[in-house]
Amino acid sequence: MKQIHQIYVDGEFVTPHGTETFDLISPLTNLKTGEVVLGDETDTRRAIAAAKEAFKTFRKTTVDERIAYLGKLHAAVSKREEELVKTMVEEYGGTLQFSKASARNAIESFTNMIQVLQTFEFQKTVGQSLVRLESLGVVGIITPWNASNSFICNKFATAVAAGCTVVVKPSELSAAQTQLIVECFHEAGLPKGVFNLVNGLGTVVGAEITSNPDIAKISFTGSTFTGKIIAKGAVDTMKRVTLELGGKSPNLILDDADLQTAIPAAVFGAYMNNGQACIAPTRLLVPENKLDEVNALAKAAVRQVQVGNPMDEQTHVGPLVSVKQFERVQQYIRTGLEEGAVLLAGGGGKPEGLEAGNFVRATIFTNVRNDMRIAQEEIFGPVLSIIPYQTEEEAIAIANDTNYGLAAYISSSDRERANRVAAQIDAGRVVINGFKHDPQTPFGGFKQSGIGREYGVYGLETYLEPKAVLA
Ligand code: NDP
Repeated sequence: MKQIHQIYVDGEFVTPHGTETFDLISPLTNLKTGEVVLGDETDTRRAIAAAKEAFKTFRKTTVDERIAYLGKLHAAVSKREEELVKTMVEEYGGTLQFSKASARNAIESFTNMIQVLQTFEFQKTVGQSLVRLESLGVVGIITPWNASNSFICNKFATAVAAGCTVVVKPSELSAAQTQLIVECFHEAGLPKGVFNLVNGLGTVVGAEITSNPDIAKISFTGSTFTGKIIAKGAVDTMKRVTLELGGKSPNLILDDADLQTAIPAAVFGAYMNNGQACIAPTRLLVPENKLDEVNALAKAAVRQVQVGNPMDEQTHVGPLVSVKQFERVQQYIRTGLEEGAVLLAGGGGKPEGLEAGNFVRATIFTNVRNDMRIAQEEIFGPVLSIIPYQTEEEAIAIANDTNYGLAAYISSSDRERANRVAAQIDAGRVVINGFKHDPQTPFGGFKQSGIGREYGVYGLETYLEPKAVLA
């Protein structure tokens, strides 16, 4: 049994004032694997006070000092890469393939920020005046369970680059992964109080971070529902917010695309991270006159999708994080059937032989209308909706007919045409022909997918406050 009974405040692992415990449950077996003690408001205030004190000196560090700290963090996290992967698979059910990529992203957060710092100008001349970009202050970081350490590392790396100090509130569903990353940060030996972490509930620790006047900014990744609560609460003390929220990303297959490549890639892409990915291409928009061909290709592709033990290198879809998430996805599958969508593959219930874990059958609905709930709401499980369109204009209109705007994907054999279409899509990231990630380009959402951007120069600027000095 894993016992996580300490939080991290002012450079030390300490016993929290809070005494409530939360059971850690394996998504593979639904058996208890450990317990985490939850911190409370007192713990959160203590952590914020430590971060506030540390900020006084950390804000004065030079760029070279920050680069050195980022290098130490990179080294400390790199050393435990294998453990990070294993813990993510066991605790969360992410496939080995995905967990390896996620751990890589976590590690590379530090080198990516070093690269940004090497050319970033903290002072600029605008007209006759000087503009200084100054460290914002103490940053509250609130993260979800689906790629926990990657989010924490990216946000913390950006804070260090900006000279900010942090208090992290992770999802309690990722307590074991977080414990490991905090051990790495501890080993990196940054000044006391620069990094603090309080395990605890969103409504307790998260709410204190949101309302506390000593927090200057919140960087949040999670649902749009919670993002709105945080944004409303943050405005009372005029906190800056970066909100990375949900998505219902369209995947536009234009009529000149190579379907033999694009459709299997679309099916596998929709199931990335067991379908628990905010950027997953869950709405597949295809030309109506090619729907039969698309359906046949999608059906063939889904037969290749292996649902099973996430430790197995061959597995594409592991169990969902919790029984609650499993039930939520089952409800959406029922909703799709009630709405009249045609079930092409998968459906309700668990795959044979996988009854113990939170496994969902790899599911595809076709003939979906974009106004159906399964096309509008984020399901966060391995469920793909195929939506037919008649013209390119209609495809663009359907792609944009959503409250979300995080990512979009386009497949076409004509690069110019794909670029023209990309220019008309309301999304923070548009990816052409495949699934790519560029950590130096901004990441974040249009519309209800969020506020602000992360990564690279755009991400760093959100941890800084411009000050104009007019002489
Ligand atoms: P939630 O929004 O439920 O939770 C995210 C975090 O917020 C958790 O740590 C949670 O704590 C905390 N929280 C909950 N209530 C409050 C509150 N009132 N005040 C402050 N903090 C609070 O999301 P999930 O954990 O369920 O994660 C899934 C969601 O995250 C999906 O909707 C997905 O789209 C989104 N997501 C977005 C990404 C992006 O980059 N845009 C990337 C990955 C996921 P607790 O666990 O204790 O409730």
